[in-house]
Amino acid sequence: MRCRSAFLYSDKYILYNFGFEHPFKPYRWRLTLNILKKLEAFNRDNVDLIEVEEFDENILRLVHDSKYIEFVKNMCKRGYGYLDYGDTPARRGVFEGALARVWGSVKAVELLAKGEYNHVFNFGGGLHHAGPNYASGFCVFNDIAIAIRYLQKKYKYRRIAVIDVDGHHGDGTQKIFYREKILTISIHRYDGFFFPGTGDWDEIGEDEGEGYSVNIPLPMGVGDDLYMHIFTNIISPILKKYLPQIIVMQFGVDGYIGDPLVGLRLTSNTYRYIAYKIHNLAHELCDGKVFIAGGGGYLPEITAKIWALIFLIFSGLDESSIDVKDNFTYTDIDVKSRILKILNDLRIKILSLL
Ligand SMILES: [Zn+2]
Ligand SMILES: [Zn+2]
Repeated sequence: MRCRSAFLYSDKYILYNFGFEHPFKPYRWRLTLNILKKLEAFNRDNVDLIEVEEFDENILRLVHDSKYIEFVKNMCKRGYGYLDYGDTPARRGVFEGALARVWGSVKAVELLAKGEYNHVFNFGGGLHHAGPNYASGFCVFNDIAIAIRYLQKKYKYRRIAVIDVDGHHGDGTQKIFYREKILTISIHRYDGFFFPGTGDWDEIGEDEGEGYSVNIPLPMGVGDDLYMHIFTNIISPILKKYLPQIIVMQFGVDGYIGDPLVGLRLTSNTYRYIAYKIHNLAHELCDGKVFIAGGGGYLPEITAKIWALIFLIFSGLDESSIDVKDNFTYTDIDVKSRILKILNDLRIKILSLL
């Protein structure tokens, strides 16, 4: 397997800072980088560390309304109040930080499209709740959607698969591509109330996009067993049917057991499994082209360890030196059998529509 991977960052990411008390910690990509540097991950000729240096704000217009962009800029200049209903504060620097993170994701897909790397990581990205004219859930600009629009426009990509493993529904990304043949798969906690309140089974896309939005809503407490089963039995066959030219992953890890915001019970076993699985599928289906963005993860130390772990797996490096060893977790048997039944119906339906 030919693997070339790159870790993208900018020191400006730190400007995406909502304050000391806010759960979103803007330095998680830096913690991840420190772990990887300590392990000398970049001292190989197939693994690179790349600083993002372009920050033209016109890129935002690929997805966002000009009025909304101005609103964010002005609110952040002012430096108080909220960009949404109360989750995403307007602070000085947030506009610049968000823009830098968007460019990280755009650069990432560009390097992949040019064939310079197979796997590119931008852990500063993955801000999946933002919509065309609104901020939501700590997300100001939807870097994932912008990167996809960039691939469509500049490189004429048509089949792009998004896999969103964050504990929350990837609602902004889904909404932007709901009527297009861009595959968006989101697997998340859902009960109708849990943020953002969307992502039920029956949201499958509309018009041209019918069948191209896939949602796998999970109740609280789901563990490694069911989550891995879903990857093997639903996500993998859907990807093989869709045949993406590139895979985009929102790799939020707030589904980790003990995360203060979510309530799923996944462990490093699941994340390790997903990394190996998607790595193999990417080489099988699309010359290894995977863009991995970050996302949620509100235990910063654990989040950084898991992100470092998946970076090493994709780069073909030894991951055993990262010290996250968890006991495998199991899902309540009644919950599991109920979900498996719905999953099977969903699988049949989606595969018939793609
Ligand atoms: Zn590879
Ligand atoms: Zn989340």
